[in-house]
Amino acid sequence: MQSYKKYLIFKRKSEKKFVFSYFLCIFAPLFYKIGQKMTLYSQNFYRLLYDWYEANHRILPWRETENPYYIWLSEIILQQTRVVQGMDYYHRFVTTYPTIEMLAAAAEDDVLRLWQGLGYYSRARNLHRAAQMIVGNQASSIRQNTSDNSNYTSEIRFPKTFNELRSLPGVGDYTAGAIASFAYNLPYPALDGNVYRVLARLNDCEMAFDTSAGKKYFHGLAEQLLDKANPRLFNSAIMEFGALYCLPQSPDCTNCPIQAFCKAYAAGTVDLLPVRKPRPTLRNRYFTYTIYITPDNKTLIHQRSAKDIWQHLYEFPLIEHSSEEKWQKYKMHGARALPSLTHILSHQRLHARFYVMPVNELPILPDSFAITWEELDNYALARLTLKALEAVNRLP
Ligand code: SF4
Repeated sequence: MQSYKKYLIFKRKSEKKFVFSYFLCIFAPLFYKIGQKMTLYSQNFYRLLYDWYEANHRILPWRETENPYYIWLSEIILQQTRVVQGMDYYHRFVTTYPTIEMLAAAAEDDVLRLWQGLGYYSRARNLHRAAQMIVGNQASSIRQNTSDNSNYTSEIRFPKTFNELRSLPGVGDYTAGAIASFAYNLPYPALDGNVYRVLARLNDCEMAFDTSAGKKYFHGLAEQLLDKANPRLFNSAIMEFGALYCLPQSPDCTNCPIQAFCKAYAAGTVDLLPVRKPRPTLRNRYFTYTIYITPDNKTLIHQRSAKDIWQHLYEFPLIEHSSEEKWQKYKMHGARALPSLTHILSHQRLHARFYVMPVNELPILPDSFAITWEELDNYALARLTLKALEAVNRLP
């Protein structure tokens, strides 16, 4: 009985082996051919993309270096900022703070001052905080391990792994992937807006890329497409291709070097992609500023401290109105009104009116302090205030 059972088990195993071998014989050549075709397909794709990149890429200083500190600076500056505008700021930061130790040692006011006009000031505050974290953490551990406290700066090591980079304030998946690949050639994708567009079109993907499900899905697509042997080159090339060739409006698909791989081109859906989630409606806010000015050229400013827009920046004394009607009705007698300004932020539309008020003596206002007109240059001001100052300078 025992031996019959053993025979049955042996028979079943043999049958399974036979079925597996049979399918292997039939399908192995097919799998081999598909695999070979896919490899050729991919190699051809990368070769065409890299050839285009070699011939067309811009010379950008942060792509000519492998210094992770400089690459990090550029990536933070370029978030929400065009390359043309960011270039000047990149040079300012690299010149003023050539090392991370110097950025960490700077006063926050000075960092914000250097950032002035670029908007999204939380980026500057995070940049400064991250520099202080990197330098502070390492300096204390170096001090614990050495008797010479004076020369620790040369030993500061910029975070080197994706997770270390991702843990810095102001560094998300994109920025961590960009620094990891550009500085260390690590195999992480870097999905900026341009890459999302290229991926959406190559895959004819209708999913909104800025939802959490969409981000996850596109990240998967990017990981599949990433050239893991050349992540630095691949990320540079696909980002540049999106920025210069696969443009949001009417890209030149007819002559596109990777047209053969583009499913949106084949489907005629290029102009419909990528898809975004509906934009939130902007919140309207109504501001009245007073620019006091004395005969000896003094004025009042205050620092914004609340957890609100422009935290830690300086501005003229402000009244915020609860409705448009109240804002419209508000008048300052004896003051000269500048033309009203509308300023759009990511989630808010600001309606602002500035009054220039000549006074013999500055009033005493809570939190405000007096400075001379020339000293305004020493304070970090929001773009809206800078626009008002341009209007003041144009006054007859
Ligand atoms: S064919 Fe057009 S849409 Fe497709 S990748 Fe090329 S430029 Fe972009």
